[in-house]
Amino acid sequence: MHNLSGKKLVLATHNAGKIAEMVALLGPHDVSILSAADFGLSAPEETATDFVGNARIKARFVADQTGLPSLADDSGIEIDALEGAPGIYTADWAETPAGRDFDFAMRKTWEMVTRSSALPPYSARFRCAIVVAWPDGSEEVFEGAVEGRLTWPPRGPGGHGYDPMFQPTGGELTFAEMSAEEKNRISHRSMAFAALTARCFT
Ligand code: IMP
Repeated sequence: MHNLSGKKLVLATHNAGKIAEMVALLGPHDVSILSAADFGLSAPEETATDFVGNARIKARFVADQTGLPSLADDSGIEIDALEGAPGIYTADWAETPAGRDFDFAMRKTWEMVTRSSALPPYSARFRCAIVVAWPDGSEEVFEGAVEGRLTWPPRGPGGHGYDPMFQPTGGELTFAEMSAEEKNRISHRSMAFAALTARCFT
């Protein structure tokens, strides 16, 4: 087991929304945060079939390239009406010729859900896998999930990705209607980070 206190940590992502959340979640800890972009690294291909596998590919690539510990998150939304899709392909569903467009992805998703044989409420969950890869070849894995349901039309100005159409169980607000602090108290990513901090900041 490795301790991250006082160390440099490279975030293996180019997603600005994720970087902002990770910086906030790591804020209370004594760690210097860098990102893959600081090293001019491109993103490796995500060829695994699950969240942990894809997080491992990203974290290992950056740790090997930089010689520093690296943290990667792989996350997405699983929709029961779509048998768990888009899952690890969540970001891909937003790809358009003009770049990633989550309004387009949410609309497409809602159409598919309402055309399916499932009845509302449409249950779904966000999942997050975090892998911390060390230059010595070792790795640690942390996971989190938050249950909720899909809602339409999308609501709220905050968050990123599918946040405006995801209402976590136990309240009336979508993730995008919550403040960053409210979302970070209950999100899939914050759960995985809680496990990480318990292990790596002792
Ligand atoms: P990846 O992990 O980079 O492959 O991308 C995961 C995708 O899942 C993101 O681009 C978002 O669309 C979605 N996603 C993951 N976490 C969240 C979240 O907290 N809110 C909204 N969308 C998310």
